[in-house]
Amino acid sequence: MSPFPREAFKPLSRYTPDRRPSEVDLSDNTNRWGAHPAAMEIVRSAEEMDLNRYPSVYADALREAVAKRYGVPVDCIVTGCGSDDLLDQALRAICDPGEGVAYIPPTFSMVEIFAKINGLVEIPVREGDIPAPERLLDADPALVYVCRPNNPTGEVVPRSWVERLLEAAGSDGPIVLLDEAYAEFADDDFVEEAAGSRRLLVLRTFSKAFGLAGLRVGYAIGPTEVVAEVEKSRGPYKVSRIAERAAVAALADDARWVPSIVAKVRSGRERLAEALHARGLQPVPSGANFILVPLPDGRRAVPTKNELRERGVAIRPFSNLPGFGDAIRISIGPGAEMERFLEALDEVLA
Ligand code: PMP
Repeated sequence: MSPFPREAFKPLSRYTPDRRPSEVDLSDNTNRWGAHPAAMEIVRSAEEMDLNRYPSVYADALREAVAKRYGVPVDCIVTGCGSDDLLDQALRAICDPGEGVAYIPPTFSMVEIFAKINGLVEIPVREGDIPAPERLLDADPALVYVCRPNNPTGEVVPRSWVERLLEAAGSDGPIVLLDEAYAEFADDDFVEEAAGSRRLLVLRTFSKAFGLAGLRVGYAIGPTEVVAEVEKSRGPYKVSRIAERAAVAALADDARWVPSIVAKVRSGRERLAEALHARGLQPVPSGANFILVPLPDGRRAVPTKNELRERGVAIRPFSNLPGFGDAIRISIGPGAEMERFLEALDEVLA
């Protein structure tokens, strides 16, 4: 018998972001304009059966709705309890313990956490700029994780970079897990390519552009052989009845509300970047619903976060980010919230 607790779990702890309430919360990249109205309608009309019966086993109605939305076969879709859950499921389904997961730091922190939980070896690949895609395959990983747009930097690797990575992975190389949690806010995505590919699995979520983070619904799109394995690690009853119905309703009605949110985020993002530049800061160009700003003059991220919080504004601090140093990440919200943030920032930086 191996000793308890597990060796792999020793470096792990609970995920502890600063979630204390704040007047203006720009810390977690959720939708600052609200929740999809069609989903709200479903939640308001909940029936007893939605609570006292089990949900559908594999959320097939949602799989069908996603398949219809993108014009791909239903066997190419798997759903989960947020895309966090799908990331965990995919790592578990695709990699044996001891195998490697390659990624470009800094990226979504849950990758390293789920890699550890699943007994996998982390392979961070970066010295300075974004590496050539082939470099991610150097250490023979079982899976390559790419976040596009990337959290927390907002960077969008070029389309040709992803295409080169897929080409290098070939038909029997590592699976490429492309996290598109923020793709609605960018110029393009890889959903169409995923279903017809051999190695590409794309992760999407209802938590950001659809404003449904509290319902916990995500999905992945990829080749049927990969999706079938992920369904096994997913297990049954992962998406609640209400969440499935709300997500289906929101998808069926995504031609107006979601594009209007995306337009607001994109113009707000441009305005915030300009305002930051005007203050002599160097925000990282972003394709997401947030902006990362490296801090000037040796300022530290956590004290800056605390000083902004004292002024009623929550943002996300990052200490010592590889390639960026100490930085803060600000979610894009309505104009008044951006104004509040800039006023607080001016006071803190003064
Ligand atoms: N991927 C990325 C890049 C994220 O930033 C997040 C949320 N912070 C997720 C996945 C997970 O989102 P959810 O589980 O709410 O779908």
